[in-house]
Amino acid sequence: MPQIIDGKKISAMIKDELKTQVTALKSKQEVSICLAVIQVGNDPASAVYVGNKKKACAYIGIDSLSYELPEETSQAQLMDLIGELNHKAEVTGILVQLPLPEHIDEDAVIRAIDPAKDVDGFHPQSVGALCIGQPGFVSCTPAGIIQLLKRSGIEIAGRECVVVGRSNIVGKPMALLLLRENGTVTVAHSRTENLKEVTGRADILVVAVGRPKMITREYVKEGAVVIDVGIHRNEDGRLCGDVDYEDVAPICSAITPVPGGVGPMTIAMLMHNCVEAGKAGRR
Ligand code: NDP
Repeated sequence: MPQIIDGKKISAMIKDELKTQVTALKSKQEVSICLAVIQVGNDPASAVYVGNKKKACAYIGIDSLSYELPEETSQAQLMDLIGELNHKAEVTGILVQLPLPEHIDEDAVIRAIDPAKDVDGFHPQSVGALCIGQPGFVSCTPAGIIQLLKRSGIEIAGRECVVVGRSNIVGKPMALLLLRENGTVTVAHSRTENLKEVTGRADILVVAVGRPKMITREYVKEGAVVIDVGIHRNEDGRLCGDVDYEDVAPICSAITPVPGGVGPMTIAMLMHNCVEAGKAGRR
């Protein structure tokens, strides 16, 4: 039987560690940590994500400010608000919930956030810092996957790591992080030829393709570690990943379930970034 990598348990552990850290910092009045969350429009999924982020802040002891803006908010209005929050000393982190309405230029919004407050790690300066090995905020989902691997005792250095997917928020930062951990990294995508052959070389296979149950056992080497980033709701209303769990689990050494694998780690790492931003803000 494979090791089931328990993201729920590991994320709870990280949140508890952060809570202890924040309590200690606050007792010495050394730091104020405040996350400003901006949501534009009424997308129900976004509202759930924002609610979960605020709940996690409250649990850890991070203050949060909420800006719920109407769908028709203009680009200029949103940029003005970000500019204001960039200058507010008591706000140490800024998060704009994506996706934004179509009339708003997402890239421009991300670029407008002060990199020192970019707790999502999406700003080009944060991505550049990751690329050249300098300190900066790292995109939360891939950072969470590194924590899952490390805290499950899985060695990365020297191993063949294959990332399927090259999005800016998951695939690319994931590849850079595995490289930083001294993995031998290959990035596959929709134009990759002989995908099964490529994924079949992986000791650690990270799948972020956004296609339900695409990865079956033909893609996986026996004994591999399989990390499933995908999250989908299938016809009968149940959640599933990009990996066909029932088919793949019996042949791998460790695997993340969906739900309860990568998903819970994203918020835990966002909280980690918020605490780091607060700590840096006091210097
Ligand atoms: P994107 O759609 O932005 O990227 C998907 C990537 O997969 C692209 O690089 C694409 O290649 C590649 N791809 C698509 N089809 C194939 C194929 N048949 N073979 C090989 N590669 C393929 O997705 P995201 O990275 O944003 O998300 C991926 C999944 O992870 C989604 O299910 C999403 O819901 C989930 N997710 C989960 C999170 C969590 O917290 N658990 C957080 C973020 C995402 P190309 O570039 O060539 O088009």
